[in-house]
Amino acid sequence: MRTPKQLYPQTSKIDTYELKTCPICGHLLKQEEYTNGRKIVQTMESVIKIAYLPKRCLNPDCDGQGTNLRPAG
Ligand SMILES: [Zn+2]
Repeated sequence: MRTPKQLYPQTSKIDTYELKTCPICGHLLKQEEYTNGRKIVQTMESVIKIAYLPKRCLNPDCDGQGTNLRPAG
């Protein structure tokens, strides 16, 4: 019987969305209080745990309303 290989994260990385204002309407963005997209990534050198903090536009008339903006990374 084979034992499943386990991944042990060596470093963790949390990204925040780079922009302070909305790319669609220019309104200020609100930093969400939770992290999203948490996952464990295995690279050639190490195992990294990553997550990001999404931001949301505060303008109720904005086309981007309701979508979380993710960091490019
Ligand atoms: Zn907006």
